[in-house]
Amino acid sequence: MATAPMRIGDLLISKGLLTPKKLQIALIQQRVTGAILGDTLISLGFVTAQEFAETIADQSGVEYVDLRDFSISEEALRLIPKETARKSGYIPLEVLNGVLSIGVTNPSNIMALDTVRQLTGTTPRVYLVDQDAYSDYIESAYYFVEHPVKQRLEKFFSQLKSGGAVQSSIVPELTDLLLMDGIRKKATDIHLTPSKDVLHVFYRIDGVLTYGHCLPHVFQASLASRIKIMAHLDIAESRLPQDGSYTLEFLNKRYDLRISTVPSIYGENIVIRVLSTSGSLMSVAMLGLNENLVAIMRSLFEKSHGIVLITGPTGSGKTTTLYSCLRDIDLLERNVITVEDPVEYRLNFVRQTEVNEKAGYTFASSARTFMRQDPDVMLLGEIRDTETGQMAVRASITGHLVLSTLHTNDAVTSIPRLLDLGMDKLLLSSSLLAVVAQRLARKICPNCKVAYTVSETEKATFRRAGLDVTTAYRGKGCERCGGSGYTGRTLIAEIMIIKSDIKDMIYTGASSSVIYQAALKGGMVPMMVDGLRKAAGGHTTVQEIQRVAG
Ligand SMILES: [Zn+2]
Repeated sequence: MATAPMRIGDLLISKGLLTPKKLQIALIQQRVTGAILGDTLISLGFVTAQEFAETIADQSGVEYVDLRDFSISEEALRLIPKETARKSGYIPLEVLNGVLSIGVTNPSNIMALDTVRQLTGTTPRVYLVDQDAYSDYIESAYYFVEHPVKQRLEKFFSQLKSGGAVQSSIVPELTDLLLMDGIRKKATDIHLTPSKDVLHVFYRIDGVLTYGHCLPHVFQASLASRIKIMAHLDIAESRLPQDGSYTLEFLNKRYDLRISTVPSIYGENIVIRVLSTSGSLMSVAMLGLNENLVAIMRSLFEKSHGIVLITGPTGSGKTTTLYSCLRDIDLLERNVITVEDPVEYRLNFVRQTEVNEKAGYTFASSARTFMRQDPDVMLLGEIRDTETGQMAVRASITGHLVLSTLHTNDAVTSIPRLLDLGMDKLLLSSSLLAVVAQRLARKICPNCKVAYTVSETEKATFRRAGLDVTTAYRGKGCERCGGSGYTGRTLIAEIMIIKSDIKDMIYTGASSSVIYQAALKGGMVPMMVDGLRKAAGGHTTVQEIQRVAG
């Protein structure tokens, strides 16, 4: 009885997801609360539900499926009533060649198999899903089967065609429908773009804009007003841009919506960014980086002082990586303080603070308070101006490890960017440890992945990265990936370590191209090469790497 959970603890340790000391603390807490080890480790923030489930999958031989990257088929959901699935602790996933697949949170769930056999007459194929994703998706999956968005939208349109005017009463429902459809599709941004005759709705999914709906133009003004009311914006003002936010509650989950309106010639263009408030903190090992880069990252976190920067454009996953860095720092031995704007993940054992300009708590003023809080590691949300840059340097030279992000396209251009921000060459060269540049690349859908013979152009692209490739992979497009051929995303990156030669170059004001050559000589693998290696390994496509890193 007592040995089984220990084995899982050891497995997590061997995968680099847990340390013996953290396991010890979880076991101590477990003795107090009586909760099971997995739940304790997850609630302490030592491992995520996803990491735990993947480890159980390794141990039990049941394949893990990440529901976050999976589109659950309606056909499967219609076979099993929601209450049956919930009571027996599983979720229908898809039907392939007449066989139903289900996801269970516990690999020894016999009851699930029995109920499926009773209802369908066949034995299902079983996958493992994590507890967090299961509770997130079971309600919404059935909700959208019971309330199909497309049919409800079509009903609105046919009412309009039959001569009905836009009734103000249907606008709130229509707004919610468009938002829910975005949430269902896991969109990060929802665009309402008016044109001459119609209103186009786009969703950004896995970093790519995809067409959602086409609405009669008559809805434009009323939808804009509805969204502006919800976000406490001035509805009388449509000639100037406005920004606002509100929280949408849907099936017991909260979504923070950031609204931006910009006047266009056909009415206001509205973009809604969707931030899901739950989110767990992955270990650097789980981000999808190659092993070599993970090892470099981990060695950086062991440094006692210096600055490590994560760079990339908007939507490249910088913040997620930044927080993952914290997971890999020994939070029990080192005092970590953060200054964020806003706090995006809540972490155990980290002293998190949020900038409040109105109250006078700014990045600059926080620096003074910080030093009195006996920190070892400081996480600064972003270096965005001279003040935050200087604060990072000051913290570093007084013996602290500083982690932050910067908005640049690649590792080497962060040097001129920091100097542009007015940072001192000597201080910068002596405090900067490394710059990580990264992008998120879409992964090929495993369900419709096919091999193909690469073209001469692609062969040449691979060759420039030192790879001899004749066969590569792509997704044909299937129901599971919505026809795109991709599901989920992985990280590609380059890490420039600031060794003594580069320190000298920063100090003497060398050009970016000279620094770049030195970084290559020092062992940096360019992001493009890292990406093409992933394409050669069949994780993503050449086109995708060229799109994000080209
Ligand atoms: Zn597919």
